[in-house]
Amino acid sequence: MGDIIIKNGYVFDPINNINGEVMDIFIKDGKVVEEYDGKDAKVIDARGKTVMPGGVDSHSHVAGAKVNRGRIMRPEDHYQWVRSKTDIAHSGTGYTVPSVYLQGYEYATMGYTTVFEAAMPPLEARHTHEEMKATPIVDMGAYLVFGNNWFIMRYLREGDIEKAAAYVSWMLRAHKAYGIKCVNPAGVESWGWAKNVHSLDEPNIHFEITPCEIIRGLAEVNELLGLPISLHLHANNLGHPGCWEITRESLKIPSDLEPQMKIEGEQDFEKRTQTVYLAHAQFNAFGGTSWRDFESGAKGIVDYVNSADHVVIDNGAVPFGPATVMTGDGPAIFDLYKLVGGKWSNSDIELECGAGVLTFTYLKSNPVHSVQWAIGLELILMIKDMWKCILTTDHPNGGPFVKYPSLIAWLMSEKARNDTLETCHKWASEKSEIATIDRELDLYDVAIITRANPAKTIGIAYRKGHLGVGADGDVTIYDIDPTTLDSSNYTEIEKKFRIAEYTIKEGEIVAHKGEITSAPTGRIFYTESKVNEEIERDVLADVREWFKYYTLGFENYPVDERYLRRPTPIKVNMEG
Ligand SMILES: [Zn+2]
Repeated sequence: MGDIIIKNGYVFDPINNINGEVMDIFIKDGKVVEEYDGKDAKVIDARGKTVMPGGVDSHSHVAGAKVNRGRIMRPEDHYQWVRSKTDIAHSGTGYTVPSVYLQGYEYATMGYTTVFEAAMPPLEARHTHEEMKATPIVDMGAYLVFGNNWFIMRYLREGDIEKAAAYVSWMLRAHKAYGIKCVNPAGVESWGWAKNVHSLDEPNIHFEITPCEIIRGLAEVNELLGLPISLHLHANNLGHPGCWEITRESLKIPSDLEPQMKIEGEQDFEKRTQTVYLAHAQFNAFGGTSWRDFESGAKGIVDYVNSADHVVIDNGAVPFGPATVMTGDGPAIFDLYKLVGGKWSNSDIELECGAGVLTFTYLKSNPVHSVQWAIGLELILMIKDMWKCILTTDHPNGGPFVKYPSLIAWLMSEKARNDTLETCHKWASEKSEIATIDRELDLYDVAIITRANPAKTIGIAYRKGHLGVGADGDVTIYDIDPTTLDSSNYTEIEKKFRIAEYTIKEGEIVAHKGEITSAPTGRIFYTESKVNEEIERDVLADVREWFKYYTLGFENYPVDERYLRRPTPIKVNMEG
């Protein structure tokens, strides 16, 4: 952890309302501090350059069994994208699903210092942590999948919210996970019998619980426990024409809940305001009734998000090109496979969840893909308040995270969008509103959707996503002079965001102009919440009883801290 002073840069730090002011940033022992003389500190002159907090990715599939399956299914992905070994860095390969080393390096060269894994199945937690442990540089955490978990469905069916909360609390602690992920609630369980659910009030097989009841229950559990992030929702009917409507209705379910964050020892910081975080909204913003009359349904989602204060979305954009589609939503992947073919794999994870993986390429010549590209951009450009949205590709579902700079260019430049509209299928302009939007984001907006808001949304803005005193010394310097920035020169924007001039992690330069200069070990954040001990004892008795249906011994189920690198527990709700 280093001491470093960044001088004279144009600073974009939205959490502290700093919009392009020229100022100096002082880092000591890895943290942002007040001005000091800095005799022994390294000094970087950032004159004429853009300074932002390190990027924060709040939804990316980077570790665990299904990611690894994606690597195995795409050998062709591995010879086209290679980073050679250096004195500091391992070699690595892979484009849509890079190896663990490569993904750490590529995030760092792009200016990102924090990445959260979007879906960790409890039974695969050990594998997920092993891969996170091997991913260099970036701080990480993982959301645990609960939306079709047998214990959750049973407790919620019985109306026992306290037991559901005690179970979640124990599970997050046992598997060293950060928050609650809910994927196709009720539907993935029915998928075990080759079925799905298609409306919020349709009960699933055997448990007879509806998506609405699961979303409501998990959102209540989330706020009861006081977790840092809200319920993280992958809504039902994902990837099907017309799914925007069920998505909007799903977002309404936790609208009356109050966000409760009870992080011990952290009082004064930018707290989350949402009670639901909709993941990769693009895949749930499809309009039309079939693929024949397919169109963007973004407006329906955006109108609701603009009118509601309890929702944050990440866009899950499609930048065109190869992707590997992977999700806990097995039936959605199967439907896509039936439609397009390709290499498909599917798995069921005992009493907990499932997953599907499919190789995929988004083509400019394809009418549906072109509309998907437009939807991803609409879902940011049409939202009035940038604090309600986050930039992602749902890596690697919409495309790999290394394409974020292309998305930033499209969001900042109307010319970039118009030039793409000329080269892609006409459905993009005919079946969406993208061609009529003249909004261009500025650097402040970009800083919100790539660092400040993801940090706020996942409840970690006391140390990430800003450059105030006490923040982690994670800083990115881009070779962009805001005073001469020309939005029509979008290839330049893309280039500059792709390769940061400097990426600094905890005061140490980790990347410089695309080269890895240091590869420190990042932290793993997870949540330790506390509930009534008696209820937790009762819950554990239930879990032990049902564990006869698992292929694993109960004692081998929890993940020990030694599987984690720099384990950093976040204590919540400790006042009991
Ligand atoms: Zn995802």
